[in-house]
Amino acid sequence: MPIDPSFRQQILASVERFVADRVAPRAAEIDASDTFPADLYREAAALGVFGLWIPEAYSGIGPDLVTPLLISDVIARVSPSFALIFSNCGDAVTPIVNFGTDAQKSWLLPKIASGDLIPCFALTEPGAGSDAASITTQARAVDGGYVLSGRKMWITNGGVGDIFTVFAKTDPEAGNKGISAFLVERGARGFTIGRNEDLIGLRGCPTTELMFEDVFVPADRILGEKNRGFKIAMSTLDEARLNCSAMALGAATGALQCAIDYAKERVQFGKPIIEHQGLAFLLADCAARLTGARAIWQRAMAALEADRSREASTLAAMAKLLCTETAMRVTTECVQAMGANGLSKAYPVERFMRDCKPFEVFDGTSQIQKLLIGRYLEKYGLPDIAEAEIAARGMATG
Ligand SMILES: Cc1cc2nc3c(=O)[nH]c(=O)nc-3n(C[C@H](O)[C@H](O)[C@H](O)COP(=O)(O)OP(=O)(O)OC[C@H]3O[C@@H](n4cnc5c(N)ncnc54)[C@H](O)[C@@H]3O)c2cc1C
Repeated sequence: MPIDPSFRQQILASVERFVADRVAPRAAEIDASDTFPADLYREAAALGVFGLWIPEAYSGIGPDLVTPLLISDVIARVSPSFALIFSNCGDAVTPIVNFGTDAQKSWLLPKIASGDLIPCFALTEPGAGSDAASITTQARAVDGGYVLSGRKMWITNGGVGDIFTVFAKTDPEAGNKGISAFLVERGARGFTIGRNEDLIGLRGCPTTELMFEDVFVPADRILGEKNRGFKIAMSTLDEARLNCSAMALGAATGALQCAIDYAKERVQFGKPIIEHQGLAFLLADCAARLTGARAIWQRAMAALEADRSREASTLAAMAKLLCTETAMRVTTECVQAMGANGLSKAYPVERFMRDCKPFEVFDGTSQIQKLLIGRYLEKYGLPDIAEAEIAARGMATG
């Protein structure tokens, strides 16, 4: 149920103030120290933003699809790392909102809304990334519940997480129809939170390994139906892809704004470099590509909000592909536009460039988005939404 537009504006205005006053001055330090900003997480919680994914019945103010995506964009314009820290809460809480029992939701959602519990989504393993159905973490049925054994990798916010949705095989012979989802608490016996990865970008947002050695999970901690976990995992990906798109757009916008400001100030050959056509064309190309990517993101958001159809899902894959690849290109060009200063940590553009690379990898790599789009084309042709739009504008060529 979307929230009231004036309420949305109010929330966005308070987020913009928080980002300018509190996040922007810390963005470089979060990256350099690779340290999770726990104080900023609490301050964001106090603004009520974690409640946007959560229904009012469980102390939230949502669920609302669009507002959190707009917030991810706003935060990423100064700190893509903190944008991911924020938005991962949505990716991780949505399965609980959509598939949890009333008891599970009453237990977890109010504490997630208040920022007291950080949720994580644990699907990927050392041997199973793009091919998520090939996970080998096992959940063996025992008296009163299940016993989990296996390893997870690259889990966002894992190092600071409190409650983990862990995907494991309950029927190893049944492929993706043999996967179930479990709610596992930090501190469960046999559950070890491993090291944080030392990544190229999005530093300060921990990406963590998890180990499960005979971890007992009571039967009432299974999320959704047994053997339906793969569907749960996949159902959260459309929003996650739009979130990733939002962060990529935000980072590219932040970098481009910086490069434009710089190009207006920096004088070479007797005039500001933006007055050299070659450089202005470079920035113009970035602005045009970014505006185009933003348009498909908005189109995909509108489609997903209207109807969770295969078409909307395909548009989300298209948005993820175009927004993340555009952001990588734009941020790289911004570094170029600023010469040696673009490479220096005195300016944020090198950080934006490093932050953009992971966006092309998680929530499905660019190749996986193309694979999904290609499958759709093979089965249904061009997405109906695109066709309907073309027809509505009288642009169909017959
Ligand atoms: C910053 C970050 C945060 C993450 N957060 C989470 C999280 O919170 N939870 C979680 O579960 N996971 C998370 N991940 C994991 C992420 O989802 C995986 O890294 C991603 O799915 C890719 O898997 P992989 O790294 O194993 O690459 P692989 O699957 O091994 O792919 C390697 C290369 O092969 C290509 N490839 C693979 N299959 C095909 C194919 N069929 N056709 C063409 N090319 C192919 C890929 O595109 C890629 O270029 C995160 C990763 C990162 C980097």
